Amino acid sequence: MTDLKNIKAFAFDVDGVFTDGSVLAMDNGDLLRIFNAKDSFSVRTARVNGFPVAIITGGCSESIISRFNSLGIPSEDIYQMSKNKLPDLQHFCKRHGLELKDVVFAGDDVPDVETLKAAGLGICPKDACVECQEAADVVSDFCGGKRFVRDIVERTLRAQGKWKFDPDQPWGFSYRDEVNAAQFKSGRHV
Ligand SMILES: [Mg+2]
Repeated sequence: MTDLKNIKAFAFDVDGVFTDGSVLAMDNGDLLRIFNAKDSFSVRTARVNGFPVAIITGGCSESIISRFNSLGIPSEDIYQMSKNKLPDLQHFCKRHGLELKDVVFAGDDVPDVETLKAAGLGICPKDACVECQEAADVVSDFCGGKRFVRDIVERTLRAQGKWKFDPDQPWGFSYRDEVNAAQFKSGRHV
């Protein structure tokens, strides 16, 4: 298991990791998910501090892309419809010049088991399936969607002295619609 001080990147499943696993099934086939703002802040902070972050999910929706783009994750690091997650994590590592031992992988269900074993630090939420709990290096005290992501990202950045927030530091990417809406409401530039 890789020490948090030596972690260079993060890779996350989505459902059951960023969420509690719930989806709201719409008539048009869309699936709506609820994300936790504290998780999101930690991912943005990791990106601002130069950590590559991969999203590796069996799901597929425009909202997954737009949500993670807004957290500073480029589309090429978002792997949707991933049936076999380990080759996708290896692909991500290769593109960023990383080894598997450099990466935290977080997953909660059976398709994540092999990747949990292969990553430098495999972590699952407290409510992950039994197979994940057996395969992971660490079983979190937090459940999926309930600050599980925040906990592992914050611990890692703190271990490296990178858990900092400078209000003057640009995020380095656009909030797009979020910013436009805020400007419209507040009348000031964000
Ligand atoms: Mg999952």
